[in-house]
Amino acid sequence: MTAAVDLRADFPVLQRMVDAGPLVYLDNAATSLKPQSVIDAMAVYYDSVSANIHRGKHILSEEASERFEQVRVRIAARLGVPSRNVVFTTNTTDGINLVANGLPLAATDLVAIPLDAHHSAQLPWRERCRTVWLAASEYATVDEESFRTVLARSPRVVVLTACSNVTGHTADIDRLTALAREAGAWTVVDAAQLAAHGLPRIGESVDALAFSAHKMLGPTGIGVLYLSDRLIEELAPGRLGGGTVDWADENEFRLRRAPYRFEPGTPNISGVYGLGAAVEYLDGIGQDELATCDQRLLSTLLAQAKARPYLTVLGGLSEKDRLPVLTVTLKGVADPSAIARALSDSYGVMCRSGYFCAQPYFATHGHTAGLRIAPYLYNTEQEIEHAFAALDELHWLLGGGAR
Ligand code: PMP
Repeated sequence: MTAAVDLRADFPVLQRMVDAGPLVYLDNAATSLKPQSVIDAMAVYYDSVSANIHRGKHILSEEASERFEQVRVRIAARLGVPSRNVVFTTNTTDGINLVANGLPLAATDLVAIPLDAHHSAQLPWRERCRTVWLAASEYATVDEESFRTVLARSPRVVVLTACSNVTGHTADIDRLTALAREAGAWTVVDAAQLAAHGLPRIGESVDALAFSAHKMLGPTGIGVLYLSDRLIEELAPGRLGGGTVDWADENEFRLRRAPYRFEPGTPNISGVYGLGAAVEYLDGIGQDELATCDQRLLSTLLAQAKARPYLTVLGGLSEKDRLPVLTVTLKGVADPSAIARALSDSYGVMCRSGYFCAQPYFATHGHTAGLRIAPYLYNTEQEIEHAFAALDELHWLLGGGAR
């Protein structure tokens, strides 16, 4: 069987051979591969435009500015929001830091954070405020009972993980943010993993939502941060400079309207060109096809893992509310990094080992380090089967044979 849509030829890295044979890239939760159209779009900027945006009246500057703003408008349309609410950042981490540092919060204010949150979604708050963990249930990023108990403590901010980069579990963002808003909290959503599987329509109770282009076929160094109007009113930009003010004299300055007040200095223009091409590529595939592909990959992952008693799947074996990101721990193997290395070097399989920047989740549940297998739309079922068959051999060799 081939990938759901015949698109492997669009990804130059997939033509690459490694010592062990064809490359099997299953590290998509860390970053995705890029199609040629994204690489070309970035080259077009440097080859034939290369000018700065928003500041010049010449043809090249106007052309770059127009494309830059077109991409913003397109992303805003996909999110279902006005383009003034869409800020370009460098990545998810940058977006969450912008919100955590700009909100008027006191050190005594409470911020609720899911236990499975990526370090990027938890550390910026832990620096500034008191924090409380939202427990993950076995089958969801947030346990409903824990959520309600924490809301009763009136947190100022509730952070949510739209899709966990450890378990692949997704959260019901609309419902959870509505409850958090009712309890008087600001709502901040980490959509780094979710965005690759389709940009969400932003619900009215979401105040901030961040994602990175590089996980959804786009380039590194460019991200998106949605901000609600009510949050824009309260948020201090934090970093100021060229492009952020309408006017300045020696005594005062007046901030520009959003999103520009949050985008100081020359941005990653080629990155925005690349992100635009990535969104166009994903739109070309279509949400239905993407969802079908995700379901097929998830079923294959879980079926393969279930058949192996030496593996424990973090987050359980249910397919419900889940995307194809699978982390397993291996019986008798406290640290699977040697296995990840051998998967790469002897079988051509690229995946990741460790704690995936979600160490509190591992520590609380007492899990040893995991191995994460995260396919994406260009992966085939055979590649996943190949990875698990390789794991059998390596576990036998390196894991002391415990099955
Ligand atoms: N949140 C989640 C759930 C992630 O998976 C990641 C990336 N692994 C991040 C945040 C951080 O993304 P970035 O490094 O692009 O800022």
